[in-house]
Order: sequence, then structure tokens, then C-alpha cells
Amino acid sequence: GREWHLDSRPVGWPKPEDFSLVEAEIPTPGEGQVLVRNTYLSVDPYMRGRMSDAKSYVAPYAVGEAMQGGAVGEVVASGAQGLAVGDHVLHGLGWREYALVDAKSAVKVDAGVAPLSTYLGVLGMPGFTAYAGLLRVASFKEGDTVFVSGAAGAVGSQVGQIAKLKGASRVVGSAGSAEKVALLVEEYGFDAAFNYKDGPVGRQLREAAPDGIDVYFDNVGGDHLEAAIGSLNRDGRIAVCGMISVYNNTEPAPGPRNLARLIQTRGRIEGFLVSDHNDLRPEFVREVGGWIASGELKYRETVVEGIENNLEAFLGVLRGDNTGKMIVKL
Ligand code: NDP
Repeated sequence: GREWHLDSRPVGWPKPEDFSLVEAEIPTPGEGQVLVRNTYLSVDPYMRGRMSDAKSYVAPYAVGEAMQGGAVGEVVASGAQGLAVGDHVLHGLGWREYALVDAKSAVKVDAGVAPLSTYLGVLGMPGFTAYAGLLRVASFKEGDTVFVSGAAGAVGSQVGQIAKLKGASRVVGSAGSAEKVALLVEEYGFDAAFNYKDGPVGRQLREAAPDGIDVYFDNVGGDHLEAAIGSLNRDGRIAVCGMISVYNNTEPAPGPRNLARLIQTRGRIEGFLVSDHNDLRPEFVREVGGWIASGELKYRETVVEGIENNLEAFLGVLRGDNTGKMIVKL
């Protein structure tokens, strides 16, 4: 089976030369292990961080070795009790066709409950990030005006819709194309949306939320964060989920110039990691699973086919090629 290796640590935008697709032997599972033939691979913005060796919350990818990431696949050989050939599992060894997985780090998933790809998206890590980040970290409450950046992406599209379902008085989103902006308003029910490439984010946000915002869910950082602080209402809350606008920077990005507004607004900025909120998972599965089943919560996926296109799909996420969750289908 083929697997993607990191050959050198990218500086700035990752280049194809930093990676290679390598043929590897298909292993045989030992006691407590399963051999999985991957069918859906996840590519996510956080993977850019793992390509660097800066100290972070997750270990860097090792140079010369296979990369990792969320994946769903079918068990094709099993040495583990409770997992049989034909079962589908969610696990952490993506970027490859075949994975030797410890049964204790595999979660059985059911194609009869939801399409398998959704366990990497709306019912998986990104969907849960939206849920925990909005409802807990940003302390969302009914009547809030919510602004979310990266709003047509995997996390952002769920943030806006969950806010509406939970009684937000106004939801505003920003995204990087006219098509994405139209989708936010017409399909996801955002009250307003704008293309951040059309003009200054601060001005566009003031027009879209003339009475200010109570919550900002940050996926982007940079100008977006400064604009959100500029529009923050009294007791406003900013949940820092991601800052994709700086992930390929080679120099530290300048900070927001208006932090002093946090004083008059009594504003709060808080970063978070989804993995710290696992106690909310049962609630997430019940509530979001229900909204997906009833059709109240909508989602999109951009599907790229073939292991050979795994890297391009990842680069596509950084460029904004995706609408909703970016998935690689094998
Ligand atoms: P998305 O599906 O949102 O894909 C990334 C999107 O970012 C692109 O589609 C693109 O859309 C947008 N983008 C890229 N560059 C820029 C830029 N310079 N300025 C503005 N937008 C840009 O990814 P996810 O939903 O998976 O992740 C969203 C964010 O959440 C990321 O920052 C990620 O790191 C973070 N995250 C954090 C977690 C946590 O635990 N804290 C967990 C999961 C995700 P467009 O066309 O609109 O530009």
C-alpha cells in the first residue's frame, strides 16, 4: 500500500518537494491489532503545524516517516476481539492506503447511522469543535449576535447553523468567494455574510452587524480578529479556534492593534483545543446527530479522489478550495 511521507519540513507554503508517496509493505495484524483498508482520509489545517518542529500540543510528524491523520476504513484482517473483518473504524492513521491500528485506538462506526465520511466531518472532530467552541468556550446564549470566520468550512459552517438553532438573534459569516457567501445565506440560514477579499474586514463586519457582535468564533486570526474586537459588544466573548491566515507565515504576524477595547467591553478572548472537551461528546452526538437526521443542520463535503491527490487536497484546504469538510476518498 502507498503512504505519504514528510521528506523535509516546509518553510512557508508547503511544496510538493517536501513530500513523497512511498510504496510500503502491507503488515499483518498481531494480537490486539487490526489491518484497515482506508476508505476516507481527512486533511485538516492543524496538519500544517505538525509539519513544523515547533513545540505544540501534538507531536510533529517525523521527517522520513509516514504522516498521520483522521481516517475511516474497513477492517480487512483482525487480531482483536470485538473487531471483525468488514467492520468500519475511525482511527488516526490517515495519509496511507493500509493502516495497522491498535484496536484500542480505533472506534467502530456505522455506515447505517450516517455516511462514513461524516465521522471525519460534521459528526467528527470538526463538528465537535464547532459545538464545544461555541456553546462552552464562547459561552453562547440565546439572543447573541455571532460572527464566525471561515464560515463555509467544516467548523465554521456548523458554528453558524448551531448558533441559529440555539436562538442567536443574528449570525454573520465571512468566507473567501461569492459562491461561499451565497451558500451561507441561502442554504445555511446566516443572516448576513461577506467575502473578506472584497474589502476591509472591519468595514464589512460593521455593515453586516451594525449593532455589534457578542460572540466571535475565530478560525482565521489577523484582520478578522482585529475587526471582531472592533465590533465587540459589552461582555463579548471571542473563542480562538484557529488562525489559518498565519499558519504559513515565516515571521510572527502583528497582533490586533485594538486590544484596549477589551477593557471598555469587559471582553474575553479564550483559546481552546477540542480534545479538552470530550465530556460534551454524548450531548454533541445526541443533539447534532438529531439535527443532521432531521435535516435541520446542513453540511457539505468537498471530495477529492485517490491517495495520489492527498497532498493536493491538503494544500487545497489552505487555499480555500473546499466548501465544508475536505475529504479524500480512496
Ligand atoms: P476549513 O474547512 O474551514 O478549511 C480552511 C478554510 O480556511 C479554507 O477553506 C479557506 O476558506 C479558509 N482560509 C484559508 N486561508 C485563509 C486566510 N488567509 N484568511 C481567511 N480564510 C482563509 O477548515 P476546518 O473547518 O477544519 O478548520 C477551521 C479552523 O479551525 C482552522 O483554523 C483550524 O486550525 C481550526 N481548528 C481548531 C481546532 C481546535 O481544537 N482548536 C480543531 C479543528 C479545527 P475561504 O475560501 O473562506 O478562504
